[in-house]
Amino acid sequence: MKVIRACVLGYCMGVRRAMDMAEAALATGSQSPVYAMGSLIHNPQAMKSLINRGLTVLEESNLPGDLSGARVIIRAHGITPHLEAALTNRGATLIDATCPRVKASQIKAQSLCREGYRVFLAGEKEHGEIIGIRGYAPDCIIVGDPVSAAAAAEKLFLEEPRPVKTKRSIKTALIGQTTISPDEYTAIAQAIETVFPNLHSINTICRATRDRQDSLRELCGQVDAVIVAGGCESANTRRLLAIARAAGRGIPAWLVETPAEIPGEIRSFTTVGLCAGASTPDGLIDVIEEALMKIDCKRITPEVVL
Ligand code: SF4
Repeated sequence: MKVIRACVLGYCMGVRRAMDMAEAALATGSQSPVYAMGSLIHNPQAMKSLINRGLTVLEESNLPGDLSGARVIIRAHGITPHLEAALTNRGATLIDATCPRVKASQIKAQSLCREGYRVFLAGEKEHGEIIGIRGYAPDCIIVGDPVSAAAAAEKLFLEEPRPVKTKRSIKTALIGQTTISPDEYTAIAQAIETVFPNLHSINTICRATRDRQDSLRELCGQVDAVIVAGGCESANTRRLLAIARAAGRGIPAWLVETPAEIPGEIRSFTTVGLCAGASTPDGLIDVIEEALMKIDCKRITPEVVL
């Protein structure tokens, strides 16, 4: 079987940086316990590997009372300043692996609030990145789509105790989740601008997700089927699967977490594309590629495991 890799696949800069910091901390793990504040990465194999080497995952709802001498890694999505304080107050030393792009959004949200802006946050309410940024701008308004954005803007306008004439000059700003689609972000901005035409829109969109999607679309034109490597809990990986399935010719596509999950149907195809989400480790991509290349279009090799 011929396998063609997408030009851009696997770890984004922020995830790679967080994983490198975790690896470095675990390499000196005997000095002090190493914790991660929440799951560092949406990939079960990568998490299992870190846990096997001594990493313990903390849950915000169940923090130990004493973390003296422990090191706690903050994941790429970042956390709230409140949670940071809770960890340091318990004696932990923080290893801040917040992606620099997410950190920039946190700082920008905080400074806009201090300058008197009403800040809209475009993204998923329950996403770790949005929860973290909201911690820096507690009065921000989270909007998930243009309809809810228009409604939230209208509500803000109506509640403002100023004469109508001056209401439109309320200082408003919009920050997007780094992984939001540009089209969705623009539609949300336009919806808010119908109420607040002077909206200050901050472009915080990260190209990492789009680069992987564009690369997959290009790949779909060259192959008969696609394998998306990555964790099924990873939103950006599932999105790649949807893109492959919706691609022009409607080619078959599967999401696999390990070589053992490669479907038997793949034997019907001679040229298969391989892409991977931003949280898929290089090693996992490699073993899935190797397993695909060993398929002679008659027999699969499920014995190849991580
Ligand atoms: S997708 Fe972009 S912003 Fe998010 S962690 Fe990766 S590099 Fe950072």
